Amino acid sequence: MVRVIMLSPPGAGKGTHSRWLTMQTGAAHISAGDLLRAEIARGSELGRQVAGYTERGDLVPDELIFRALAPAVVAAARDTGGYVLDGFPRTMPQALRAAQFGADLALTSNAVIYLTAPEEELISRLLDRSRREGRADDTLGVIRHRLDVFATETAPLVEYYRSRGILLELSTNRPEAEVQADLLDRLQAQGLILPAAG
Ligand code: AMP
Repeated sequence: MVRVIMLSPPGAGKGTHSRWLTMQTGAAHISAGDLLRAEIARGSELGRQVAGYTERGDLVPDELIFRALAPAVVAAARDTGGYVLDGFPRTMPQALRAAQFGADLALTSNAVIYLTAPEEELISRLLDRSRREGRADDTLGVIRHRLDVFATETAPLVEYYRSRGILLELSTNRPEAEVQADLLDRLQAQGLILPAAG
């Protein structure tokens, strides 16, 4: 079963491709952003603590993210044996702690999928999404801030995972079906999914 991390700047397609990969493999989709938005919508204490950060496009403190995600990861691994982690980890401390957590529970990720697209494409996709879905953090100012946060906080994870030999880098600046075919090929080549899954 696949245990993968989706790493990408906002707008590169991590939600779309995570959902698709989940359907292909039967692994559980765990979206950090969706979990936080659900807590905010429910008005839980955690939701109240994280709302200001997500509205501004700042990262939520690591402690709160772990509190939101750990139960979902443990449940996913128990129920399906695999996961597609969408939007986590996003900082080096999160990555190091996730690696420790994974090792302790024998749930280590076996691939990190890094999706890329040119910046102007990312911005235009997010503005399109805001017209469709009206997400509070898809305004131009917050989008630019989220891209800056990605560059400073999250981009260092690319080299970290590359050096561990588990990074699969894919451009999403092409038709979705092409990205998906490429992704399946790459995961099959790594022996992470069987050819029949495609
Ligand atoms: P996303 O849906 O992945 O675009 O995430 C939406 C927002 O949730 C981000 O802009 C952050 O405010 C917050 N968030 C999501 N994942 C994380 C994470 N791993 N660490 C900190 N904050 C996060």
